[in-house]
Amino acid sequence: QGDCHSQLLSSHNARDLLNSVDAFLFDCDGVIWKGDTLIDGVSQTLDMLRSKGKKLVFVTNNSTKSRRQYAKKFQSLGISVSEDEIFCSSFAAAMFLKVNNFPREKKVYVIGEEGILEELQLAGFTGLGGPEDGKKTVQLKPNCLFEHDKTVGAVVVGLDQYINYYKLQYGTLCIRENLGCLFIATNQDAVGHMTDLQEWPGAGCMVAAICGSTQKEPIVVGKPSTFLMDFLQQKFQISCSKMCMVGDRLDTDVLFGKNAGCKTLLVFSGVTSHSTLHDPSNSIEPDYCTNKLSDILELLGP
Ligand code: PLP
Ligand code: CA
Repeated sequence: QGDCHSQLLSSHNARDLLNSVDAFLFDCDGVIWKGDTLIDGVSQTLDMLRSKGKKLVFVTNNSTKSRRQYAKKFQSLGISVSEDEIFCSSFAAAMFLKVNNFPREKKVYVIGEEGILEELQLAGFTGLGGPEDGKKTVQLKPNCLFEHDKTVGAVVVGLDQYINYYKLQYGTLCIRENLGCLFIATNQDAVGHMTDLQEWPGAGCMVAAICGSTQKEPIVVGKPSTFLMDFLQQKFQISCSKMCMVGDRLDTDVLFGKNAGCKTLLVFSGVTSHSTLHDPSNSIEPDYCTNKLSDILELLGP
């Protein structure tokens, strides 16, 4: 269709794809599940890929949960996935600090949810803020100073249902006044499936608020960052040309894979429609596209 170079998945090219890669990187929302609902045929497709010896990795930009919590979510959906196959953007934030030798004596202020705090703690960092600060209010009175911790060396911003003026002021002061304080975004997704029926404002909205008040750009650690891809590569020692990134979003998943030289497969079971892919303004073209993940299983036959 049009000038788009993406191939529709067929039994022929699905077999080629399977033979040419050793690992599949799966985006989660829109590919594996929608909100808390498993997408049809996913479990059987993952079983088939595992039986063929493929390495499976799950990469989600949703920072509200930790790896441990995602492993529980997979289990509750009847899929067996271990924590070390999961790369959520909360974990990516903690790994970014670790890889960059962030000093343990400094603190990390979190505008985000429990997942980020748990990953920071597991990596040996001290997190402040998070859901607890959702209950706090500011005193806008003369001669009343808003105090913040001067030892905060990084502010991590992700999806935060409990964002308020207190947290915005806290994060802003740390970034503006603490020398060298990092501004890290778990991801910049505009919207996310907080529920299966609707899209809701995503982390991009919270990140934009802090960009606005600090006039600084964040370091993004989730998809499509090269940090996360480099980290995955180091971990699994599989060359990017032997990986296939499967996702439902062009500007996060497909770009993440394409930037690294992975094969890319777009599925239409999430946020991207055929018309978005084929729109003349779109420049991000996956190698393959198909309706849903389980098409691979059906196309390959018994
Ligand atoms: N962030 C939030 C808050 C979400 O709800 C979602 C999807 O539900 C995402 C990010 C994107 O997640 P994924 O990368 O798994 O598509
Ligand atoms: Ca997705």
